[in-house]
Amino acid sequence: MSLAFGREYLAIPGPSVSPDRVLNAMHQSAPNIYEGALVETVAGMIPDLQKVARTQADVAIYIANGHGAWEGAAMNVLAPGDTALVLATGRFAALWGMICERLGVTVEIMDFGLKDALNPEAVRARLAEDSAGAIKAVVCVHVDTATGVLNDIEALRGAMDAAGHDALLMVDCIASLGCDQFEMDSWGVDVMVAASQKGLMTPPGLGFVFANDKAQGRQNESVSFYWDWRNRMHPEMFYQYFGGTAPTHHLLGLRAALDMIEEEGGMEAVWHRHDVLARAAWAAFDAWGQGGPMEINIADPDKRSRAVTALALGSMNGTRLRRWVADNGGVTLGIGLGMSAPDDPNGDGFFRLGHMGHINAHMVIGALGVIEAGLVALDIPHGAGALSAAARVLAQA
Ligand SMILES: *Cc1c(COP(=O)(O)O)cnc(C)c1O
Repeated sequence: MSLAFGREYLAIPGPSVSPDRVLNAMHQSAPNIYEGALVETVAGMIPDLQKVARTQADVAIYIANGHGAWEGAAMNVLAPGDTALVLATGRFAALWGMICERLGVTVEIMDFGLKDALNPEAVRARLAEDSAGAIKAVVCVHVDTATGVLNDIEALRGAMDAAGHDALLMVDCIASLGCDQFEMDSWGVDVMVAASQKGLMTPPGLGFVFANDKAQGRQNESVSFYWDWRNRMHPEMFYQYFGGTAPTHHLLGLRAALDMIEEEGGMEAVWHRHDVLARAAWAAFDAWGQGGPMEINIADPDKRSRAVTALALGSMNGTRLRRWVADNGGVTLGIGLGMSAPDDPNGDGFFRLGHMGHINAHMVIGALGVIEAGLVALDIPHGAGALSAAARVLAQA
């Protein structure tokens, strides 16, 4: 017997759960790519994407995952020989740095470890030393999906301004967009990278690069044809949006997802839902941690993402728990990406809960309930009252 039959819940930090409405919008015969509904849909979608990112900046859409969008962003503003200052707070900024390095960019990494946010003051001090202006871009993530950390991008911009440095601020919002509050224009972000499959609730396959006028003014003229953002941002013909055939069905799905965001009440409502659901999960994790080894990776709630939480559970317990809840509860948790301990080189003592996109109270409480059953079944010590603590957060919201 298994209790996993029924609707499955993929509670990993991307791809996130696909809403039926998005899938149904995609379920149709190929649309005309020369004129008509699809062409109008794309034109109408750009302002809605700008609303989600809180920006007037132009956006280029690539048929790509996040890695493609990383490369597209890097190639348009960084040329071989340029230096990028990469602020590592886990795994993802360093991966973006690796992509820059493969383009011939000199990458300098400032590593803030796996348990904390980046330190704007340290960045200010480093930029102040660069009086020759060798550093062309500061590269970071808003949320690191491996550690669950949320970086303060507004404070980072303040530090760059305080140093009087004119490097571009390039931010990866792949995990955070549509989950954690992000304000591209008022926070002074020059380039922002996102993808469809997390807070935007659309299957993997669309990458977005937003770039303001300052960033577009730093155009790398040796950018390759496919990644060149100029035609995509300022197309004269429809096919130029996508450097070829449009990603027809992904666009139809994304249109439905953007409608859902609008109908929910816009970004404030979406952020609020994510905030309450994340805090409910944290309350449960804290309660379990009172009587056992469970620990949220980022201790300070102000530095935690509302999209994903990374946890330590000790020895093999992360992997054991993931298997148990998948086999017995129909919930798939995220692996402990990039985490390890001296006695746990493969990170089997870690796991992550994704709480991004198309999720609601019963999904999060349901996942937490199955996790509790797993802790009991596997004899992993844990404190009491976790589900009541989570329920109280929901009730008080
Ligand atoms: C998921 C993710 C990526 C990578 O996206 P892919 O679509 O897997 O290439 C990059 N950065 C962050 C912060 C992510 O969460």
